[in-house]
Amino acid sequence: MPLERLPLERPPLVSGLLDARCARALSTVAMTMPRPWKPAPLIRLSAALHAAAAAGMLLRPETWPWAAGALVANHGLLTAAGLSPRSRLLGPNWTRLPPPAIARREIALTIDDGPDPEVTPRVLDLLDERHVRATFFVIGRLVRRHRALAGEIVARGHALENHSEHHRKTFSLHGPRWLEREIRAAQQTIAEVSGVAPCFFRAPAGLRNPFLEPVLARLDLQLASWTRRAFDTRNGDAGAVANALRKDLSAGDILLLHDGNAARSPHGTPVILAALPRLLDSIKEAGLTPVTLDTARR
Ligand SMILES: [Zn+2]
Repeated sequence: MPLERLPLERPPLVSGLLDARCARALSTVAMTMPRPWKPAPLIRLSAALHAAAAAGMLLRPETWPWAAGALVANHGLLTAAGLSPRSRLLGPNWTRLPPPAIARREIALTIDDGPDPEVTPRVLDLLDERHVRATFFVIGRLVRRHRALAGEIVARGHALENHSEHHRKTFSLHGPRWLEREIRAAQQTIAEVSGVAPCFFRAPAGLRNPFLEPVLARLDLQLASWTRRAFDTRNGDAGAVANALRKDLSAGDILLLHDGNAARSPHGTPVILAALPRLLDSIKEAGLTPVTLDTARR
């Protein structure tokens, strides 16, 4: 039977998730209210610069080298901002939890690129053993392939958020229509499988362009990056991964790990499985409480 014809398995909704401020019931996905898009100062400056360059070339054509130079510099700055996952120059971006969550000494574990049938169930067991809740930024295409597993993540008290439908390496090179299709498809997939529409979006590899923020505003999604990551899709050394994440550990940190595309140790163990227990020990020792991103904004 083709995947898209498989009956939807809907796990029971987790009441804690629906209590959260931004959690949305399935019936509201199609009716998502866009939030107003307020261009960031750099975007407003870029628009003004383009208008001034056009006017300048029209009124005094001999100034074209200056106009062209200004536009090239401007595009360079926009590109650099898009290539910096933690930059806020293109729009709002969670790199830490909000102040009330910091005051509550909360911290967020975010786990990307799943669900993965080999790694995710073992990650869920590790989290369960310590009663820890995490945020899984899942890929829509994989959610459709592993519906029951995606449902289990939610049923066990964690949050599913949007990490695009296909996780294309070229994500940041596309225009607004393509970006909206890609993000909306994952939004719909995740809502169908879990019963709850995501509230957060994370770009593949964190790479963006200026078209992304207006799309996220239309879909009422908040961009989230991270405080620290450990490149655990490439680094198979669990000690080094755990140390990179727990260095300067403090309330409000958003930490990034991967259950999908996880690097392997020399013995073939997905690195998250060996690094996660050490990290959770340090979080506990520091007196911090791991929560989902959604819970952190209450
Ligand atoms: Zn990713």
